This record gives sequence, C-alpha cells and structure tokens, in this order.
Amino acid sequence: MENEKLMDVLIIGAGPIGINCALEAKKNNLSYLIIEKGPIVNSLYNYPSNMKFFSTSEKLELDDIPFISKEAKPSKQEALEYYRRIAVSNDLNIKLFETVIAVDKVNNFKVTTDRGSYKTKNIVVATGFYDIPNKMDVKGEDLSKVTHYYNDAHLYAFQKVAIVGASNSAVDAALEIYRKGGEVSMIIRGEAIGDRVKYWVKPDIENRIKEGSIKAYYNSEIKEISKDKIVINEEGKDISIPNDFVVALTGYRPNFTFLKAMGIKLVGKKQIPSYNEDSMETNVKGIFLAGVICGGEETHKWFIENSRIHAKQILETLSKRSKVTF
Ligand code: FAD
Repeated sequence: MENEKLMDVLIIGAGPIGINCALEAKKNNLSYLIIEKGPIVNSLYNYPSNMKFFSTSEKLELDDIPFISKEAKPSKQEALEYYRRIAVSNDLNIKLFETVIAVDKVNNFKVTTDRGSYKTKNIVVATGFYDIPNKMDVKGEDLSKVTHYYNDAHLYAFQKVAIVGASNSAVDAALEIYRKGGEVSMIIRGEAIGDRVKYWVKPDIENRIKEGSIKAYYNSEIKEISKDKIVINEEGKDISIPNDFVVALTGYRPNFTFLKAMGIKLVGKKQIPSYNEDSMETNVKGIFLAGVICGGEETHKWFIENSRIHAKQILETLSKRSKVTF
C-alpha cells in the first residue's frame, strides 16, 4: 500500500539510536516514522540472556530520561524495559516487523518495504550491524549445531562446545558455558585473548585457560565442521576434535549492499560510509547516518554511549533546513 503523505523524516531501525532520532524529531516538530524489521530494539532483544552492559546506565540514557538499574551496569532485561518504556510512553510513531527493502530518489524519497511504500523528504539510516554475522566460510557452517548468536548456557551442559573468537562476546560465552557444565574449547585466530576484552573479565578467562578448565587453540582456524567433530588448523597442522556445538562469535557487519544501493559511498578497506561529521549527512543529500552503522567494518568504534549524540546533530540540521524560507 502506498502512503501518499509526505513526511519530514523516515528513520530506518528502532535501535536505541533510531529511537533517539524519533525523540528529537518530535521535539523539533518534524513529522517522522520509524520502520523496524523486528521488535523494538531488535539487536538488544537478541543479545545473550544474561549479558550485562559494560556502560553504566546513565551513559545509555536517551534525552536525559533517567535509566534506573539495580547495579551500576544494567542487564539486558533492564535495557529492554528502559528503551521500550521510552518508545511507549512517548507514543512514538513506529511500524514494527516491517523491513525496508529499497530507497529511491523520486523528487523526494520513496521508501519501499515488504508491506508498502512511503514518501519522505529525508531519511535516517540507523540500521546497526547486528543482523549480518561474519561468516567463517567453511564446510558445515550451515549445520544446525552452528550458531553465530549465543543466547544461554543451559543448552550446552555436558556438551563439547567450540567457541570461535576471542573478543568480549566469545569470552563471556566461554566462561558462562564452562560454568554451566559444558566442555569448552576456544578456537582463536591470534596468539592471545583479545586486547579489548573487559579488564575485569580478562584475568578470569586467562586463568581458566592456564589451569586447563577451558582449552584454547591459538593461531587456529576451523577448517571443517561435521556432525560429531570439527577439523581445525592449528599453526599449520590439521587436527580433528570431537564436537557437539559450534558457537562462532566472529563479529558482524553492516549491510553494505543496502548502503551502496542508496548511493552512499564506502571509503577504504574498512568500507567506512561517507558522511559529514557535523550534520551526519551522507554524500547523498537528505540521507543521514546514525549510530553504529557509521563505523563500517570498524564495528567497535561506535556504541550507544558515544553515538547518542548523532540524533541531535541530525535533527537540528533538519529543523534549521525546514525553517529556511525564500
Ligand atoms: P541497533 O541497536 O543494532 O539497531 C538497528 C536496528 O535496525 C535493529 O533493530 C534492526 O532490526 C533494524 N534494521 C536493520 N535493517 C533494517 C531494515 N532494512 N529495515 C528495518 N529495520 C532494520 N554499547 C554501549 O554503549 N554500552 C554497552 O555496554 C554495550 N554493550 C554491548 C554488549 C553486547 C553483547 C553487544 C553486542 C553490544 C553492546 N553495545 C554496547 C553496543 C550497542 O548495543 C550497540 O552499539 C547499539 O545497539 C547500537 O544502536 P543502533 O541503534 O545504532 O543499532
């Protein structure tokens, strides 16, 4: 169904930053709509059940609305509660479970979704990067025992679990599964646990590896996965180990195809989208970027704490433009 009404701004993605953009649009009296392909804060909804944010709650606040959590660093459930309450109590204009498929420049913009189309003067792309995992591209990766999203350790008790990666997510999963009775091996491409692993967690994983509770294969990669085993290449030598589950936490990437289709230039090896750092407008006039999408493959660069500011930058720019009369 085509929606004839022309709006000021259409926001793609109801993550924390998309929601923040909607709050700012409302404040600036601009007409807006968020389109989200899943539930509210879909990425957070899919984070591990027992995860704790590394940021303290006030650093995750939107629009100075107090985020009260039991401990200094909030849990996933507290964050879901917080962002959902903001969206509901501000009666934000959101369409959920609707995916944006294409954006075309027709006078203004025509945004096509899997349910209809919309006309808008401007677009904010706040689509994050959590939908697309970095694949290992190995035989057996599509088996049902392999996941790129860790949720909960209960499933893995008494099971032989290979965790691929050595970043925060991989380390948290390894420790949790080990403590719930799983037999954990970590397959690590480099020669050590990642530098960016939280300083209060790093000694725990290093000591579990040192004492042999968790087995680490350094300078290693998975070559093949089958029903009962995996083959890994460790320092040039292939070895086969018994295995029940593979949890591949090898990172995620923005939807570069979608960005390119809108005409947004991607710069350099890390495919950083081209945008103005003050207004957040891309090389395509009227299309803005907000949140973690801005980092291209540098997915650790932006997070909620430091990208909340994008909403103000964009909506103030749009507000100024809407007031210019000739
Ligand atoms: P997202 O939250 O990813 O939102 C993007 C939204 O766009 C999603 O809801 C998605 O469904 C939707 N979408 C995508 N494509 C489409 C489409 N085509 N059509 C419609 N909708 C679409 N950050 C911190 O600041 N502090 C922390 O302590 C912290 N801890 C973290 C812990 C973990 C385990 C992880 C994985 C991340 C953590 N982060 C933290 C990072 C933070 O969660 C992300 O930076 C944040 O979610 C980014 O918000 P965003 O709105 O830019 O993107």
